[in-house]
Amino acid sequence: MELLKIAVQKSGRLHDDSMRLLKEAGIKFDNAVDQLKARSHTFPAEVLFLRNSDIPQYLKDGVVHAAILGENVIIEKGGHCTIVQKLGFSKCRLSLAVPKNQPYEGLHFFQNKKIATSYPNTLKKFLDEQGIRADYHQISGSVEIAPNIGLADGICDLVSTGSTLFKNGLREVHTILQSEACLVRTQNLSVGLTALFDKLTFRIKAVQASRNNKYILLNVPNEKIDTIAQILPGMKSPTVVPLVREGWSSLHSVISENDFWEVIDQLKAAGAQGILIVPIEKMVL
Ligand code: ATP
Ligand code: MG
Repeated sequence: MELLKIAVQKSGRLHDDSMRLLKEAGIKFDNAVDQLKARSHTFPAEVLFLRNSDIPQYLKDGVVHAAILGENVIIEKGGHCTIVQKLGFSKCRLSLAVPKNQPYEGLHFFQNKKIATSYPNTLKKFLDEQGIRADYHQISGSVEIAPNIGLADGICDLVSTGSTLFKNGLREVHTILQSEACLVRTQNLSVGLTALFDKLTFRIKAVQASRNNKYILLNVPNEKIDTIAQILPGMKSPTVVPLVREGWSSLHSVISENDFWEVIDQLKAAGAQGILIVPIEKMVL
């Protein structure tokens, strides 16, 4: 039996959400702590715990077949893989920042300046396209201190809330790319491994759909069923179950969390009562 080898970040921002997603997709491990790899006892897969920034090389070498990693790393380190699904966590952006008191009037600020970054390839490609020539100072961590110690005029680094930049007296001036965790696969997989990977993708999509959607139940007077069914943007059309109380029914449907807040007032105005919103465990579309 072939094993699908999946790379996951060993520790860091991606690790917990990646493992939770695999678990909810039915790929469970006994004790995956402090090991380089773990074999699932519920799916023919092995997870290898690696540094996020090393994963592209493992994909290229064919050591792993699939991975969960940050899009920013794929862009920086080169393809060797196909992005199959964006996963919605570890969202961040790669941005340029300058000392906050520094006058800044546009990207030409960086002309002939020195920029500290862990993303030299992505940054150089971007600035080349803009016709800007700069010096790059590559460092692998704590990039944000570089301007304070006179190492660079600005930085290019990952930002999520911006608080690290703020604490270091820096101001974000331009976003180069947006990133989030992705599920990827290598290009050349055997028929058997492709089937396993497709099964994994199918399950991950079901988990993601269930997270965004809720099951909704509401009581409505029978003469309002049509009106209320129009308001509910359900999967196909709502289920109608008669209540013991004469002239009333219970309507069941699936609704996205965002849509719910949009339509709740309309539902109440149309006569809906006893509205329940229930989480969905898995959802297969
Ligand atoms: P490695 O595992 O190679 O040490 P790393 O040092 O980049 O990787 P983390 O800081 O855990 O590890 O970041 C992992 C990924 O999380 C990043 O590549 C990026 O995709 C994402 N990320 C989300 N928000 C941020 C942020 N504010 N700063 C850095 N990375 C972020
Ligand atoms: Mg690190």
